[in-house]
Amino acid sequence: MTDQSTTTAPGAAPSQLPPSVSVRGLRASYGRIEVLHGVDLEVPAGSVFALLGPNGAGKSTLLKVMSGRMRATAGDVMIGDTPVGKTPAEKLARQGVCAVPEGRGIFPNLTVRENLRIWTYRGGISMKDVEEHTYETFPVLKERRRQLAGTMSGGEQQMLAISRALVTNPRVLYLDELSMGLAPLIVAELYELVGTLSRRGMTIVLVEQFVTTALAVADHAAIMVHGRIEQQGAPADMAEAALSVYLA
Ligand code: ATP
Repeated sequence: MTDQSTTTAPGAAPSQLPPSVSVRGLRASYGRIEVLHGVDLEVPAGSVFALLGPNGAGKSTLLKVMSGRMRATAGDVMIGDTPVGKTPAEKLARQGVCAVPEGRGIFPNLTVRENLRIWTYRGGISMKDVEEHTYETFPVLKERRRQLAGTMSGGEQQMLAISRALVTNPRVLYLDELSMGLAPLIVAELYELVGTLSRRGMTIVLVEQFVTTALAVADHAAIMVHGRIEQQGAPADMAEAALSVYLA
């Protein structure tokens, strides 16, 4: 992986500052079952925000609503001045809101190049730019460019998924379970990239089960339990609270 601090993604709008993300009284349901019961969160502009909590707490659901992939039943999410609930998903994407979902969201039966080609259709970005930027960030993907994405290692698939997000040079990036199923060395590399992206000027919200890994890179953190935010604050104050929640 290379340091991206001096590079700009294709289709980039580098002068635009990252926005803050504000969540107010958010409720969301699957059918008649409510899983978010009034969530309030403040993600400062340009920060890395770690959302922690046990399985089933509602973290992925919250990210889905925050990125416009799922509608809230009450409350709202503001990204800068944009109300997420009233903005079509394509418009949010054009404004630089991007999510790397749990499970990676790549096409396993297409090669790395074919995956990259699909992403060029989105914003009139040239294949040359996309490949250049991707291979500069993740050189291993150049070696794998003719390989079916589904046959790569978990870490390489995660790199491809992140590349897809970076193609649009997002101002807000949501990362769901970045480290799932990956070896610690790869996780450390990916989190190094998260730090680099943040320094480049991006607001990042990450959902993570590995508390120590997430808190090491985060500027702010929150712990979610049963569809509610139990506690939020500085990472240093969260480690113990997170541990007690997990043990409980
Ligand atoms: P995990 O780390 O296990 O993914 P999470 O904190 O991200 O957990 P969610 O995936 O948001 O939690 O799930 C919150 C609740 O919503 C859980 O009870 C889950 O079973 C339920 N749920 C999630 N997705 C769906 C769905 N598509 N349909 C119905 N219920 C769902």
